[in-house]
Amino acid sequence: MEKQTLSFQAEVKQILHLVTHSLYSNKEIFLRELVSNASDACDKLRFEAIDHPQFLEDAPNLELRIFFDTDKRTLTIRDNGIGLSAEEAVSHLGTIAKSGTKEFMSKLEGDQKKDAALIGQFGVGFYSGFIVADRITVESRRAGLPAEQGVRWSSEGTGDFEVEEITRAERGTDVILHLREGEDEFMRPWKLKSIISKYSDHISLPILMLKEDWDGEKAEYKTTDEWETVNKASALWARAKSEVTDAEYQEFYKQISYDSDAPLAYTHNRVEGRSEYTQLLYIPAKAPFDLWNRDKRGGVKLYVKRIFIMDDAEALMPVYLRFVKGVIDSADLPLNVSRELLQESRDVKAIREGSTKRVLSMLESLADSEDVIEKDKYQAFWDEFGSVLKEGIGEDHANKERLAKLYRFASTHADKGVSLADYVSRMKEGQQAIYVIASDSLGAAKASPQLEIFRKKGIEVLLLTDRVDEWLLSHLMEFEGHPLQSVAKGAVDLGSLQDEDEKKAADAAATAFAPVLERLRESLKDRAKDVRATSRLVDSAACIVVEDGEMSAHLARLLKQSGQ
Ligand code: ADP
Ligand code: MG
Repeated sequence: MEKQTLSFQAEVKQILHLVTHSLYSNKEIFLRELVSNASDACDKLRFEAIDHPQFLEDAPNLELRIFFDTDKRTLTIRDNGIGLSAEEAVSHLGTIAKSGTKEFMSKLEGDQKKDAALIGQFGVGFYSGFIVADRITVESRRAGLPAEQGVRWSSEGTGDFEVEEITRAERGTDVILHLREGEDEFMRPWKLKSIISKYSDHISLPILMLKEDWDGEKAEYKTTDEWETVNKASALWARAKSEVTDAEYQEFYKQISYDSDAPLAYTHNRVEGRSEYTQLLYIPAKAPFDLWNRDKRGGVKLYVKRIFIMDDAEALMPVYLRFVKGVIDSADLPLNVSRELLQESRDVKAIREGSTKRVLSMLESLADSEDVIEKDKYQAFWDEFGSVLKEGIGEDHANKERLAKLYRFASTHADKGVSLADYVSRMKEGQQAIYVIASDSLGAAKASPQLEIFRKKGIEVLLLTDRVDEWLLSHLMEFEGHPLQSVAKGAVDLGSLQDEDEKKAADAAATAFAPVLERLRESLKDRAKDVRATSRLVDSAACIVVEDGEMSAHLARLLKQSGQ
């Protein structure tokens, strides 16, 4: 292949611009990104070598090396992983294939602070090298290809890049950063080591650097030619809980989630029994920009006995928990498991059930905590993810009860944070049902004339204002034996909550108003199914209700808005 100059895809140019301009204040993350790519490349090789052991050639020990050259001002990150073919170099380092890129780009609007947070969420990847380098050269050879089919890719990170074929004996990739003026700190061993221990200690491969020796004569450190491992080099989730610090858990979360905020909670367990696996699961504090995309794959990575199998293994978590991030490492699954097989596997089913329970317990312990801070954390979680958790009521029958207990609403009693259990504990003597009203907004719900009688009697009504609430009501029919009843439907029977006098008054009114009602029925016959006297109004003269089992006015409005 002749040397070629190619242009970056438009999105890449945008990403490059954003990354180099918005992330300068946190520039050291480039090393985390490049180390993570090198580690991914080794994971991929290990996986491909299951079927093609010859790919390991004469170098079966996978590792990363980081070294620099102060004369040439270069910093190199080397791995002996899967490597890149020339075609792969062009497509992987010149375009962005990631799903959701377009959506992501459209969210970036030029607010620097917000952009930086979003970029963090998206994963800045390879291009972050240009924060500190004015040229990046990649030299690589893909496992399985002959030495003559190596590739050199080089770019200044502006409009285009060059590719050419080279001969390269070693399998794997060198990413060579030509450091910008003023970035000399990235040629200091202690600086590099401190960044590695901060971000990459959990990488399961050894990261090697050249040892430094004290030269007494010259009174300075000098680099030897002996390599030493500078990270812990064992997968974080495979370590015993007692050996992992909170800071390490937090850092690992950032690495896998690209979320710059700390997680809300995490759980780390080794599960034994019917199915054997390790789980390390995190609940994020903030919803990602594409939370609403139900097709978006989940955030849980699957490993089998420490070998990386796939990202986003959606079969491991129910869709309504798609915001959970983490790692599941199975001891039972075959290494060549495919997405299709995962869907059918009994082991996976056991893992999914076990992991769902873990996540729900994490949420329950926040929600039920006596500690105010924990409780607030739960409310914050609910504000971010509540609507998604509500999807669970229709999806996960086994956990319906537990889910219902986790739901929070507004009510005539409090503007937020009301659980169904709270509601039940405040029910009036003789009250059977949990009364609810669905509306577009809290203001509209509160102003509804249908609430008048409930206010007068001091009966609490849940105010449902979330778009999915109507749907929720169709799946959540009762809670602990109390039916959920919409006050906007049918003739709400307050039953034993009505005293004898009121009942008499209502009957008397119905008789007295019979002729009027008849005339109203007649004149509204095309527009209303029935007109009846009610005891539910206190100040208003009339209100509209729908029949039990009919679509509520609110839902009809929502459907109309969405063009149905
Ligand atoms: P991501 O890692 O999220 O896929 P990056 O921008 O970090 O995105 O990397 C883009 C792609 O470039 C990777 O998916 C991979 O295919 C390729 N790549 C990057 N670094 C290496 C490497 N050291 N070895 C092999 N392939 C690599
Ligand atoms: Mg990457």
